[in-house]
Amino acid sequence: MYYQPKVNLKNGEVLGFEALIRWQHPEKGLLTPADFLPIIEDSDCMIDVSDWVIETVLKLLNQWQKKDSKLTISINIAPCHLIQHDFASHLQQHLARYPRVSPEYLELEILETAALDDVIRVSKIMEACMKLGVNFSLDDFGTGYSSLTYLRNLPAKTLKIDQTFIRDMLIDPEDMAIVIGTIALAKAFNRDVIAEGVETIEHGRELLKIGCELAQGYSIAKPMPPEKINDWLQQWDTDFKMF
Ligand code: C2E
Ligand code: MG
Ligand code: MG
Repeated sequence: MYYQPKVNLKNGEVLGFEALIRWQHPEKGLLTPADFLPIIEDSDCMIDVSDWVIETVLKLLNQWQKKDSKLTISINIAPCHLIQHDFASHLQQHLARYPRVSPEYLELEILETAALDDVIRVSKIMEACMKLGVNFSLDDFGTGYSSLTYLRNLPAKTLKIDQTFIRDMLIDPEDMAIVIGTIALAKAFNRDVIAEGVETIEHGRELLKIGCELAQGYSIAKPMPPEKINDWLQQWDTDFKMF
């Protein structure tokens, strides 16, 4: 697993990390999810991989919380895994193996488009998981057609603005309008909002101006292996002043 930080650009606080899977292939080198997840999606193998991801992340959270760390880790959950009838009890079993880990430091990212496929079913699964203490983000927000009623029914703590809107927000007024609209939507529904794919300092500064303090992207850090996290945390203490 690689980990990419999520930060508050206003005060420099590091909220936590998103866990992003990689495959160290014996011949092809380090592969990104686009190279291999589509092949296993919708198969039982995807669920095995998801289980491995949850286990790996809980192990790391367990290590961190032994040292009183308050950092969160978010996991991307494949739609086919989320809608398994026993997803919540399955998650509970994972959590039970790590009694020291406070579940509120674990966050699940689900695609807005997946959530919209079957809002009633997905919201019930989300509620069952939230009873365990975990939180949700709606990933790639803005790419689905999220009506206000749907959003009301989806108990996600955070909206993650899709990176395609962030990428062009400085040059495309319509993308900027979507970003501003999503920030307002999040405020109105009392949700947190985070921008993903914040590639430059200019993007970060503009996001701060329009009221989005939370960000993730290459201008902050690229996804990194876990052994690099401590060095990055120290470096960030000074780097964040660039924004
Ligand atoms: P995502 O959850 O929307 O993750 C964000 C993607 O954007 C990551 O790509 C990340 O490396 C990339 N990214 C971050 N900052 C920037 C930036 O500033 N510029 C650009 N151009 N890209 C940036 P990655 O790691 O290749 O992952 C792609 C997608 O694969 C993820 O999108 C997620 O949907 C899926 N994925 C990743 N890990 C897992 C996993 O463990 N399980 C499942 N089911 N899906 C995963
Ligand atoms: Mg994600
Ligand atoms: Mg995303």
